[in-house]
Amino acid sequence: MTMIEPQPGIMQIDLYQGGAAAVAGLENVVKLSSNENPLGPSPAALEAYRRAGYDLHRYPSSDHAALRGAIADVLGLEAARIICGAGSDEIIAFLCQAYAGPGDEVIHTEHGFAMYRISALAAGATPVEVPERERVTDVDAILAACTEATRLVFVANPNNPTGTMIGSGEIARLAENLPPRALLVLDGAYAEYVEGYDGGAALVEARDNVVMTRTFSKLHGLGGLRVGWGYGPSHVIDVLNRVRGPFNLTHTGLAAAEAAIRDTAYAAHCRVENARWRGWLADALAEIGVPSDVSCANFVLARFADREEAEACDEYLKTQGLIVRRVAGYNLPHCLRITVGDESACRRVVHAVRQFK
Ligand code: PMP
Repeated sequence: MTMIEPQPGIMQIDLYQGGAAAVAGLENVVKLSSNENPLGPSPAALEAYRRAGYDLHRYPSSDHAALRGAIADVLGLEAARIICGAGSDEIIAFLCQAYAGPGDEVIHTEHGFAMYRISALAAGATPVEVPERERVTDVDAILAACTEATRLVFVANPNNPTGTMIGSGEIARLAENLPPRALLVLDGAYAEYVEGYDGGAALVEARDNVVMTRTFSKLHGLGGLRVGWGYGPSHVIDVLNRVRGPFNLTHTGLAAAEAAIRDTAYAAHCRVENARWRGWLADALAEIGVPSDVSCANFVLARFADREEAEACDEYLKTQGLIVRRVAGYNLPHCLRITVGDESACRRVVHAVRQFK
C-alpha cells in the first residue's frame, strides 16, 4: 500500500480543532478556530434531530431523496443532480477518487483549503499549487498552470482562510478556458454568508464542466453531523454516486439538514448577525494595528507584522481562553484566522489583542 507522507504545514491529527488541550483548565474557553456558527443550528433542525434519534436501529436513507428534494425546493435546483456527502469533505474526496489518479494533476490555490491537496494525494494524483494575488484567487495564474494532465481545479469562493472572493464573471472566464478534460470545483462552503450569491449554481446550469460543493457545517451550524452536498452535471453526479457508499449519511444528519435548509428565516438571521459582528471585529482590530482583507465569510484573517508576532499573539490569546487558528500551513505565517463569534466573543478577542499589543 502506498503511504501518504505527512505534508509540511498540515496538521496530521487535529486538523479541525485548533489545540483545545492547550488551554485545558481555563474556564470560559471560546473556540474560534473552526468557523462554526456561534448561534448553533436552527431550533427546527434540533427538533428534527431529536425525533430522528428514535430510529437508531434503522439504516438511513441511501438515496437522500428527502434532503435532496428540500435543497432543490429551497434553492430552485434539480434534485436528481444533487449528491449528499458526509460533509463537503467527502464530496471533495469523491471528486478526487473519481477524476484524479496517478499522472493526473489537481490544481488548488496557494491559500486554498487543505483537503484539496490531501484528497488529491490520497487518490494518487499530483496536487499543483497556484499563487494568489495578494490573498485573492488569480484566474490568470490558474489558467497558466493548467496542462493536459489537469483534471480538477478547486476554487473556494469565498476562500478559506483568506475570506476573499472573486466575481461571477471571473469564475465564468475560468470555466470557459479550462482544458477539455478538466472540471472546475466551486467550493461554496461559505457561500451562504454572501447575501444573494448562488454559490455558482447558475454556472453549473450553464456549463458541463462545473461542480459546486456546499455544506451544512457553517451557516447552518451542523458541523458535528457531517452533512454536505454537491451539484453538477448529470454525467458527473452519476460518476460520484458510483464511488459513494450507500449509507454515507446518518438519518439524524439528514433530518436535521432538511429542517435547517427549510428554515430560511433562521439562516437569514445568522447571516445578518455574522455580517454585523464581522464588520465590528475587523474594524476594531484594524484600529489597534491589526488589519485584514474585507471578509465575505464567517472569519477574519488578521495580519500581524510577522510570524513571531502572530505566534506570540496566538499564545497570549490561549492564556485568555481564546482559541484561534494559525495558518502557517496555508503560507500565511504572519496571520491568524479568527472565527466571528457572538458579541461577547468578539469583544473578548479585541480586548485581548489590545492588551497583547
Ligand atoms: N471547504 C472549505 C473551503 C472549508 O473551509 C471547509 C471546512 N472548514 C470544508 C470545505 C469542509 O467542510 P465540511 O466537510 O464540514 O462540509
